[in-house]
Amino acid sequence: MTDLLLFWHRRDLRCSDHVGLTRAREHSPKVVGVFCLDPNILQRDDVAPARVSYMMGCLQALQQRYRKAGSQLLILQGNPQQEIPALAKALGATALFYNLDVEPYAQERDRSVTEALQQAGIRVVATWDQLLHAPDEIRTGSDQPYTVYTPFWRNWSSKPKANPLTDLADLEGLTETELETAGRAGAVALPTARELGYLWDAPLFLEPGETAALDRLAAFCGDAIGRYQEERNFPAQPGTSGLSAALKFGAIGIRTVWAKTLEILEDCRSDEAREGVRVWQQELAWREFYQHVLFFFPELAEGAYRQPFKTFPWDNNEDHFRAWCEGQTGYPIVDAAMRQLNETGWMHNRCRMIVASFLTKDLLINPQWGEKYFMQKLIDGDLAANNGGWQWSASSGMDPRPLRIFNPASQAQKFDPEADYIRQWLPELRGVETADLVTGKILPLERDRCGYPVPIVDHNEQQRRFKERYQQQKARL
Ligand SMILES: Cc1cc2nc3c(=O)[nH]c(=O)nc-3n(C[C@H](O)[C@H](O)[C@H](O)COP(=O)(O)OP(=O)(O)OC[C@H]3O[C@@H](n4cnc5c(N)ncnc54)[C@H](O)[C@@H]3O)c2cc1C
Repeated sequence: MTDLLLFWHRRDLRCSDHVGLTRAREHSPKVVGVFCLDPNILQRDDVAPARVSYMMGCLQALQQRYRKAGSQLLILQGNPQQEIPALAKALGATALFYNLDVEPYAQERDRSVTEALQQAGIRVVATWDQLLHAPDEIRTGSDQPYTVYTPFWRNWSSKPKANPLTDLADLEGLTETELETAGRAGAVALPTARELGYLWDAPLFLEPGETAALDRLAAFCGDAIGRYQEERNFPAQPGTSGLSAALKFGAIGIRTVWAKTLEILEDCRSDEAREGVRVWQQELAWREFYQHVLFFFPELAEGAYRQPFKTFPWDNNEDHFRAWCEGQTGYPIVDAAMRQLNETGWMHNRCRMIVASFLTKDLLINPQWGEKYFMQKLIDGDLAANNGGWQWSASSGMDPRPLRIFNPASQAQKFDPEADYIRQWLPELRGVETADLVTGKILPLERDRCGYPVPIVDHNEQQRRFKERYQQQKARL
């Protein structure tokens, strides 16, 4: 009899270039997928409707891929510690395969599922898939994990990378009787995001599924990647890939993405285009860097890493926080960015840095408030990248450069010089002069006429207060 293997999907919602699935298929053609809708994740208070919508769309696409390959993707709903072993036992599966994750909750969950399966005599095979290099592969000369990006990048980029893996095909699925057994063991029909209580009616920033992700990669690599270095910082331009949600949920394989960059490098005709590709590769490395540091320093998820910020006396003014969330601070570039986030579930990277600096250094609000709000909204919300971005912006992370304060006016002047981005997201300010929009120097009367608030704080004054507190904190240590 053919061995029945279960593949447990989590953040690898695709069938191509897939390490764990390929490994399972090498053992047996009877590979059945399973995804567990985990209330420990879905019922947290930092779940974004756009993200759940995207994930459910990816699962729908994945079910179709399995069907096309001759098998099924089963859906469970409940605590994976109970649901996964119960299904594996009921079906008489000989092994469970899955891809490893860096997040603290995922690691704990995987340990307990593994233990339960091994006790039942079911083999467990776990592999790394979402990274080009597993955390243990990239270590300093003294065999320590890296805490600083630049030396990490030097080491990481010097190592050869694996090639993409082929598509999964010719699988054998469950029989009718086995499907009935799966139903009795808890397998349910795939619900919609709405049925799970998540309402997202706006178009998704990225269409869910493997095909859409591959199309997006091809479109970006066929055009914008060569200009990435110049255009990636201008939020009004479509200068970045928009692949973050696909990378977060593994709708695209990271080896496929990397191989595409190498292919383009081969064909690059100008140094400028070559540099664009290289800079984009560095962004992919930032993604891996933050996953590695979270893996080795899980305490990052709990708050500040650097000492002065562990007990920093934040103002934590709730009215100011609400104004920031709603895009009503009176600083046009900050408000435009927050409205982009609220309306689309995505925000340009330059603006993520601007609003994070504003929340922490201008409003003196604990970065964890902003980090959580981002998770509640982002389609690509990812613990490692989001925490890394917030710790970097708040100067509370591992970065050796201590204080980085963004001036909203100079940021807008430099990166949105024609105020196109500001006008797009703040329609009430469309008639205001460009110079006034980028400097933020809009007269009170004009603000009143447009129904736009006066600045809730003064940037220079707040910068002074922040620095003063920071020095006091340092002096206390
Ligand atoms: C405060 C803050 C919070 C952030 N939160 C998240 C988050 O929750 N999820 C997330 O994926 N990214 C996050 N980022 C990183 C970055 O803003 C997004 O990855 C990027 O804007 C996504 O757009 P893109 O796919 O067009 O990126 P591109 O510019 O095309 O980059 C390609 C890919 O590289 C990765 N990447 C790029 N920049 C970074 C970075 N600085 N850190 C980690 N990975 C990066 C992403 O996977 C991205 O899709 C955050 C950054 C900041 C400053």
